[in-house]
Amino acid sequence: MAKFFGTNGVRGKFNELDPTLTLKLAQAIGTYFKFGKILVAGDCRLTGPTLNAAVISGLSSVGCEVIDLGIVSAPTAEFMIEKTKAAGCIIITASHNPPEWNALKVVDGKGVAVSKERGEEIEKLMLDSKIKLAEWNKVGKISKYELAVRDHIDAIKKVLSSEKIAKIKNNKIVLDCGNGAACTIAPKLFNELGLDVLTINSHMDGRFPGRPSEPTEANVKELIAAVKTAKADAGIAWDGDGDRVIFVDETGNYVIGDKVFALSIIWKLAAQKTNGERNNDIITTVATSKAAEEVAKKYGAKTRFTAIGAPYLCEEFVKKPGAIAGEEVGGVIWPEMSLAKDGFYTAAKMVEALSEKPLSKWLSEVPVYFNVKTKIEAFGDAKKQKIVARVLNCAKKNKLKFNQIDGVRIDFPDTSSWVIVRASGTENYVRFFAEAKTEQKAKELVEQYKKIATG
Ligand code: MG
Repeated sequence: MAKFFGTNGVRGKFNELDPTLTLKLAQAIGTYFKFGKILVAGDCRLTGPTLNAAVISGLSSVGCEVIDLGIVSAPTAEFMIEKTKAAGCIIITASHNPPEWNALKVVDGKGVAVSKERGEEIEKLMLDSKIKLAEWNKVGKISKYELAVRDHIDAIKKVLSSEKIAKIKNNKIVLDCGNGAACTIAPKLFNELGLDVLTINSHMDGRFPGRPSEPTEANVKELIAAVKTAKADAGIAWDGDGDRVIFVDETGNYVIGDKVFALSIIWKLAAQKTNGERNNDIITTVATSKAAEEVAKKYGAKTRFTAIGAPYLCEEFVKKPGAIAGEEVGGVIWPEMSLAKDGFYTAAKMVEALSEKPLSKWLSEVPVYFNVKTKIEAFGDAKKQKIVARVLNCAKKNKLKFNQIDGVRIDFPDTSSWVIVRASGTENYVRFFAEAKTEQKAKELVEQYKKIATG
C-alpha cells in the first residue's frame, strides 16, 4: 500500500509534504525515470517556489537533467513532454484543493500520469534507500524554458478550424481564471483567437482570493452573473492547475463537468465522422454519467470503462487508443494534443463549436440525468470492504447487472439508472453515487443502498 502516493500523485499540507520529503521523493522519481531528462512545473501556490527548489535539487542530485518550465498549467507542462522528449514530468500543484495544500503530480515520458500502484514502486526506491547521489561532476544540468505557454497556444491554434474561428470573431466570452495557473494562458489564447474577452480573477495569487479553486456552481456565481450582465456568448472557469474546465451558457446556466465531457464527445465524434476516421471508442471512468455513453452510442461509438482517476484513463489509452477520454469532473483528454486532461483545448473546442450554434442549443443534445452523492464513515480497510461486500452480495442475490472495475457498480434493468459504492483509498469513507432520470429516483437509490450497505 502506497504511503504517500494517492490516486494522482503525492498530496499534502505544507507540514506533510515538506521540503525534506519532497527532495527525497524527487530523488526516487528521478531514479524511477532512470536519470533521464525531467520537466518541472507548478502552479502559483505560495509554497510552490520552496517545493520547486526541493524537487529540482532532488532530481539533479541523482543525475537527472532538469528543465524548469516555471509557473504553467498542468496541461501545458504535460504537452511539453513529447515535444522535449522528456523521460517524465513533475508538476507541483494541488489542482482544485485549497491554497494551503500542495502536491507532486508525476507523469511519465509517454504522458501517462503515475498511478498509486506505480507510486508504490517509487516509494520502495525511497524507503529501501536505493537512492545513489551522482558523482560531483555528474549532477544534472538545470535550465529554464520560458516558452512553454507559447508552444501550447500555437499547438491549440494549429488544430482548430480557422474557418470556424473566423465565424466567431468578436463573440464575447467571460473567463474566470480563479487566480490560478489558467491566468498564464487563457486570456492570451482567447484574445489571439479574436474573441472579445472579459476576465475575472485573472491575476495569479496563490491564496486564491477570488474564489475557491474548484469550479463548482457555488464557486463561480460571479462568472454566471458576469455572463448575464455582459450578455456574453459563454463563460469558462478552470480549477487551480487548469486541467478541469466548466462552462456557463449564454443564458447563465452552469454546465457541469459531466456535460462538458458529453459535449466534447459530440464535437470529437462529429469531426471524426466528417473525416472518415474509424477508431471512435470513448474511454471514461465507472463514475461518469450515462449521458457520455449515450451520445457516444449515437455516433456508433463504444464506451470502455476504467477505475476512477486520471492515471487509469491514460493507461487504458496507451493499451488501446480511443477517440477521446474523460472523467465526470470536467477533465477531458484529447489525444491530438496530449494524454493530459487539457482544460484549455477543451474550452477552445467549445468556442469553435459556437460557430455552429449557441451553447444552450448544443446542450439540448445532451441527455438529462441527475446525480446524487453521499458517503458514510468507515475506519480501516476491513470495515470498508465489509460495507462494499454487502452491496455486492445484494447484487448477486437479486441477479442485478454489476461490475467491479472500481468498488461495485450496479446497472439497473431500466437501463437509465445505476449506483456505485466504493471505498475511498485515502480517507475513512465509503462513497455512494447514484444516477437516474429524476432527482427523486437518484436520491432514493442512494438511500436504499446506504441501508443495504450498513446491514
Ligand atoms: Mg486539476
